[in-house]
Amino acid sequence: MKYIGAHVSAAGGVENAPERAHDIGATAFALFTKNQRRWEGPALTSENIEGFKANCEKYGYSMDYVMPHDSYLINLGHPEQAKLEKSRNAFLDEMQRCEQLGITLLNFHPGSHLNKISVDECLRRNADSINWALDQTEGVTAVIENTAGQGTNTGFRFEHLAAIIDKVEDKSRIGVCIDSCHAYAAGYDLSTQEGYQQMFSKFEEIVGFQYLKGIHLNDSKKELGSQVDRHESIGQGEIGLEGFKRLMQDDRLDDIPMILETPNTKRWPEEIRLLKELAGQEQL
Ligand SMILES: [Zn+2]
Ligand SMILES: [Zn+2]
Repeated sequence: MKYIGAHVSAAGGVENAPERAHDIGATAFALFTKNQRRWEGPALTSENIEGFKANCEKYGYSMDYVMPHDSYLINLGHPEQAKLEKSRNAFLDEMQRCEQLGITLLNFHPGSHLNKISVDECLRRNADSINWALDQTEGVTAVIENTAGQGTNTGFRFEHLAAIIDKVEDKSRIGVCIDSCHAYAAGYDLSTQEGYQQMFSKFEEIVGFQYLKGIHLNDSKKELGSQVDRHESIGQGEIGLEGFKRLMQDDRLDDIPMILETPNTKRWPEEIRLLKELAGQEQL
């Protein structure tokens, strides 16, 4: 079964997110547990925490299908020690928020090398950061997202994700999320049948499906291999509807959260309906 939703707003408190997901027909959702553009946010109150849990229960969301995204400011591979520590502390806070909310997955982008350290060194720092945060938390899996490779971002090759996983000590709490737009922009051509098969056989060989914890469903405004991260509505970009049909009909992607981060939020109910149809689940 495919669990399909979107990255919904947590404005007014995280406890409001489940109802917003329900309103658009989602069976999975993502959220920010704090303002994603600030380093620090107010601590979660018991009203936030109890309200979030009660509303997930009320609208039927299992924690298996709730995958928050961390702050965009965090760079777990930062070349400078003081800034790396700031990022690590902020990431730990995000992990702890998940713990408090009973959430078991936290999605994040691997850091950027900023042309000051090598890609390998940056990946090693990412792994060290993850180990440090996992040591201080329980029950939350760190889910690395593949990137488009914009700027000096690491994580645009499956080899980068594998190199991080390789150095993470607790393999039971590390996973990956594939963003379809990022993969396409990074040169994985899921718009064609052949390209799709190649991409996932590489994924299986290099990373392994046992680590796949989530999918971001975004079409791409920019062309194959552009390394530019611009999301487009499903079926309206370079990947096209056939690419999403392949994702929806692939059993290897069953029973994980599949999250829209497409730009036109008004289209989400329609996109979710369409994707369920492509998965052969329109009656649900
Ligand atoms: Zn994404
Ligand atoms: Zn993106």
